[in-house]
Amino acid sequence: MSVWAVLAAAGRGERLGEDKPKVFARLGDLPLLAEPLRRLEESEWVERIVIAAPPGWEEPCILLAEELGAGKVASVVTGGEARADSVRTAIADVPGDAAVILVHDAARPLVSEDVIERVLAPLSEGWDGAVPALAICDTVKRVRGDAVVETLDREGLVLTQTPQAFLAETLRRSFQSSSPLLQREGAATDCASLVEAQGGRVKVVAGEAALLKVTTQDDLDLVATWL
Ligand code: C5P
Repeated sequence: MSVWAVLAAAGRGERLGEDKPKVFARLGDLPLLAEPLRRLEESEWVERIVIAAPPGWEEPCILLAEELGAGKVASVVTGGEARADSVRTAIADVPGDAAVILVHDAARPLVSEDVIERVLAPLSEGWDGAVPALAICDTVKRVRGDAVVETLDREGLVLTQTPQAFLAETLRRSFQSSSPLLQREGAATDCASLVEAQGGRVKVVAGEAALLKVTTQDDLDLVATWL
């Protein structure tokens, strides 16, 4: 099974309040991007990697990959306006003979070999894709402004993470579709939603708390303590 990884790293990360993209914020001694890149590079499952870089930051991504000796990096593409645009551009650089595409948010630095294995396994069992997820422990409410409108039944709801794995052809088709999710700005927050919208069968596997997505400085500080 030939597995190509797409590392979505093109977010602006405005909520981090830095003058550079989120993946170039410091995590330990290196830019945040170094951690997920090194982990994908060291994964037994991943054959090659395509990075979607923030516009104008392609060269620093290439230099970082060289510095890390990340020889699996096949290309660095320029990310787009929305995450789905970045992933679509990166997928176009994955060759047609790749069987599986693993899409991962660079903003989740601590991707483990175990979770990669867990999302890949269902693809040999007839599933089109697999996503890691965590149960919701808090009470979920719908709000409008600061007023509670409704309390939702959390039974059957989960929080999904990345890495997400897909049969390459299924993922490509989902991105070529005219899914309303792709038309509506910000609607396709993950790849699985596009595959689901095309009728694809996506399995949920166990996620990991350590796959926290870095959004704020507090998240970055917390992840740094887990390194
Ligand atoms: O913005 P958010 O943190 O939800 O982004 C999730 C992941 O998608 C991040 O790793 C970010 O770098 C990536 N992204 C991207 N292109 C965009 C927006 C986000 O690759 N235009």
